[in-house]
Amino acid sequence: MISFYPGPSAVYPEIPLYVQQAYDEGILSMNHRSPEFIAISKELQKVIKEKLEIPQDYMVMYCSSATECWENIAQSFRSKKSLHFYNGAFGEKWANYQKLLLGNENVIEAPFGIEEAPALEKFTNAQADLLCLTQCETSNATQLPEGTLEQARSLYPEALVTIDATSALAGVQLPIALGDIWYASVQKCFGLPAGMAVIILSPKAQQLALANFEAAHYNHLGSMIRQMEAFQTPYTPNVLNIYLLLRTLQAAPPIGITSQRIRAQWQNWKTFLAQKGLKLLIKNEAVQSETVLAIQASPQKVTEIKQKAKAQGILLGNGYGKWKDDCFRIANFPAIPPEHIQKLITFLEQL
Ligand SMILES: *Cc1c(COP(=O)(O)O)cnc(C)c1O
Repeated sequence: MISFYPGPSAVYPEIPLYVQQAYDEGILSMNHRSPEFIAISKELQKVIKEKLEIPQDYMVMYCSSATECWENIAQSFRSKKSLHFYNGAFGEKWANYQKLLLGNENVIEAPFGIEEAPALEKFTNAQADLLCLTQCETSNATQLPEGTLEQARSLYPEALVTIDATSALAGVQLPIALGDIWYASVQKCFGLPAGMAVIILSPKAQQLALANFEAAHYNHLGSMIRQMEAFQTPYTPNVLNIYLLLRTLQAAPPIGITSQRIRAQWQNWKTFLAQKGLKLLIKNEAVQSETVLAIQASPQKVTEIKQKAKAQGILLGNGYGKWKDDCFRIANFPAIPPEHIQKLITFLEQL
């Protein structure tokens, strides 16, 4: 079965080889305080910064999922106020986690339409400490329009600009220096098995997390930073996925190259779908995601396409939430081999 599911998604075809090598090299039972682990973790800091163009003074840490990142962030800034711009299910969930830990009164929600850009200028008087954005809303295949982060920085110079970059990080080129906290789970654009996320902190975010450090929480960003200063984690991490992340990033081209490929594939998809008379859920080009496409059709047609695809060994993504029945999604993630895309195109041509 070849998968176009936007998470968990197709893993890099080299993964079985790397897993075998991890076993052969004793990585699978490696102690997470050993010099051998520290060497891998240290090398990963170097390689990920190089390949994803992350500034040297940022810190990259690992935890178990994007959902855990919501909790980590909320735990770390409990006396703070957060402002959430969202247009879909993931952004909304984030705001909900934040409300549970910070209290409703400290969370401002700014929902916006799926064809729109967030109205950042509306809440500049709210004195938010955290400005929360979702780079790619995987649920409805939208992304923040270009220039959003520049605008966020200038309108909210004091706030920590915090970005859920799941479905974007490692797939598209992102202006990392314009954000303070970035995070993404690895089963989307990183092309790895689920069960890990990376979280990236600017010097300002590191300072603030340490200033608010409460030792009561193992997953407080402060405890994660203290451990990562020695290239370690507060708990036994997903050593296999850390190793796989290192191996896949070592083999990957710089993000600028990957980003160009993803954009070209996305343009091809759009041309092809238009020729076939298949319609995208999102019409506004400025907010269409380059990494996830949502195609809208009648529920009967969606069911038929998904079933026929499955019979040919092709897994399409279901629509999400209110678009469950009348949409299907196609991941345009870097790990998907060109031959798989060709196979899906051939299938859709024959419909
Ligand atoms: C998939 C996804 C999540 C949740 O990831 P988990 O690894 O399941 O926690 C969060 N945000 C976005 C934008 C996603 O696409």
